[in-house]
Amino acid sequence: MVAPRGIATWLAFDCPCGIGHRIMLNLDAFRYPRWTVHQSNPLTVWPSVDDRVAVRRCHFVLRRGVVTWVRDDGPVDES
Ligand SMILES: [Zn+2]
Repeated sequence: MVAPRGIATWLAFDCPCGIGHRIMLNLDAFRYPRWTVHQSNPLTVWPSVDDRVAVRRCHFVLRRGVVTWVRDDGPVDES
């Protein structure tokens, strides 16, 4: 299905983890899950990106063009 009137409904970019897979984020308010672009240059999207590929999970926040990886292996201060 093609978006009417040229509205961008997907944001696609290469994952910053470097293994070469593509992240596709839905921007369509009528689909779920849905992301919001708060700023396009530098790019800020919300909520965090959580993509699962065969061998790993890529979970990060993209804010003002800066990638912050989210730990997904338990609480940070469990020592
Ligand atoms: Zn990745």
